[in-house]
Amino acid sequence: MELRVLSLYPEQMNIYADRGNILFLRRRCEWRGIGFTWAGAGPGEAVDLAAHDLFYIGGGQDRDQRAVAADMVETKRTALAAAVDDGAALLAVCGGYQLLGESYQLGSETLPGLGLADLWTVREPGPRLIGNVAIETELGGEKRILAGFENHGGRTYLGPSARPLGRVVKGHGNNGGDGLEGVWRDNLLGTYLHGPLLPKNAWLADHLVELALEHRYGTRPTLEPLPDALERAAHASARTAAGL
Ligand code: GLN
Repeated sequence: MELRVLSLYPEQMNIYADRGNILFLRRRCEWRGIGFTWAGAGPGEAVDLAAHDLFYIGGGQDRDQRAVAADMVETKRTALAAAVDDGAALLAVCGGYQLLGESYQLGSETLPGLGLADLWTVREPGPRLIGNVAIETELGGEKRILAGFENHGGRTYLGPSARPLGRVVKGHGNNGGDGLEGVWRDNLLGTYLHGPLLPKNAWLADHLVELALEHRYGTRPTLEPLPDALERAAHASARTAAGL
């Protein structure tokens, strides 16, 4: 088996340990004897649907999002929508998460989004939403905690057809007001939790690997357990940092 990952705009949308998230996926595959390939698709580059099973969009500052938003809609939207409909996994973090929605409003400027999730983001007056965060999610069929770090000026609002990834236990979440965090639809996930999201929540990395392998091979594999002593410690420390 082989996990095939495509990062969108790895040069532009890449802050706070996005590369570490990819490295963590690679290691968890290698430790289990699962092959791993990675590719990036930058400005103007088309997405080869058949070649990838896990799509990753990392964080980005407003200026990075400005640089990629129109190109993303023009050159990648159709293929990404088809891939997600077909069951490929997509993880979008922070700035990437904001671009999953309909739009990102920055004052008088409106950046277009991919429209893959019923949500929109607005840069409202007020402080950035920064800090350690813990959310409770039922992703994967049981209640679990995702712990991480958030840092965003944009506030995201879910439309009626969107389901949050989880409920905020500690921290701000989508907009600091409604207690919701991220978005989740089957194999599509968006979240404000970055920093080393996957190393702090190893089960989420494995869940993504399973979704992607199921997309390629037709059945969901049972992944071999790993010792995960360091990963459990990283998770515990992230929970503690968030005040749980
Ligand atoms: N530019 C976005 C915001 O500040 C996202 C930032 C990020 O990815 N850290 O709202």
